[in-house]
Amino acid sequence: MDTVPGMDGTLSGRPASFEGGLRPVAPGTWAWLQPDGGWGEANAGLVVGDGASAVIDTLWDERLAAAMLAAMGAPTAAAPIALAVNTHHDGDHWWGNARLPAGARIVTSQRSLDAMRHEGTPADLSRLRRLAGLTARIPGRPGAMGRYVRSMLAPFAFDDVTLRFPDDAFSGRATERVGGRALELVEVGPAHTPGDLVVHLPDVGVVFAADVLFVGVTPVMWEGPVENWIAALDTVLGFGAETIVPGHGPLSGPAEVRALRDYWVWLAAAVAEHHAAGRSPLQATLQIVRSADFAPYRAWLHPERAVINVTTIHRGLSGLGPLAQTPPVRIRLFDQVATVARTIERG
Ligand SMILES: [Zn+2]
Repeated sequence: MDTVPGMDGTLSGRPASFEGGLRPVAPGTWAWLQPDGGWGEANAGLVVGDGASAVIDTLWDERLAAAMLAAMGAPTAAAPIALAVNTHHDGDHWWGNARLPAGARIVTSQRSLDAMRHEGTPADLSRLRRLAGLTARIPGRPGAMGRYVRSMLAPFAFDDVTLRFPDDAFSGRATERVGGRALELVEVGPAHTPGDLVVHLPDVGVVFAADVLFVGVTPVMWEGPVENWIAALDTVLGFGAETIVPGHGPLSGPAEVRALRDYWVWLAAAVAEHHAAGRSPLQATLQIVRSADFAPYRAWLHPERAVINVTTIHRGLSGLGPLAQTPPVRIRLFDQVATVARTIERG
């Protein structure tokens, strides 16, 4: 098998700020952590019961999934993987599904399953990466966008992904049992994406919050509304769990959930002011990232993602729905992301 870049570090080549790999978090419970929590550097989970196990999310390509499943080989030797949960439709949480045992049943929310059937394919991302590689040579803004997208997608083997869709879907809440253990699946979207779900393990007090929790890295709100994301974080806090595994970033607890909640409350108020003053999402973002109040969030990885969040909140205030997920819309958005990144770098 080919070596996986980043098994002992990040996928982007940046220095790792926390330790990755399979980490025990409670009896029979592991987190798979991928430093540094940036684009596509997604976490996953393992729940081992009596004679059967469950995996939570399967990463962005099959090579990464195979490396993770190999690391899970020892704890699942006497408890084969019988169930997998996909927390939402973003590829970095389910495009490794094909590497799961053929007999494992895969579950997600109905809204996530619908989005999976409509989202761009791995071939689309390969094409986008090639286009970004060409654009990267152009001077000025198109070149900056090309370089940003090229480096974002560079570490992943999209050409070798075969999509395997979930077998079952639910709405609201569902309890899955594996090897005598209960996994409470709670749909909390639309927030990060239309169908976000979180997984609570009541027997050990652990929550896999997936992408309603980013830690040390700026969250991305593709969908919104922001009020739902804040409510989702309150749902996570309401479980009373001490160990919370984010979708991106290091092992966490309630303090990190509250910190992200504070970010959304602050950002929503800031965007409302700029919206009332008639500023566009990009104008608002450029002022927000230069403001003194942004200081705590400038240290998070990818602070330039603020423009995506500002755009989603701004559209909500204008009575518009979430951004379309079409290639032209995404390219225009990443042009703005790259612009904000350069503004932040220049200080
Ligand atoms: Zn993710």
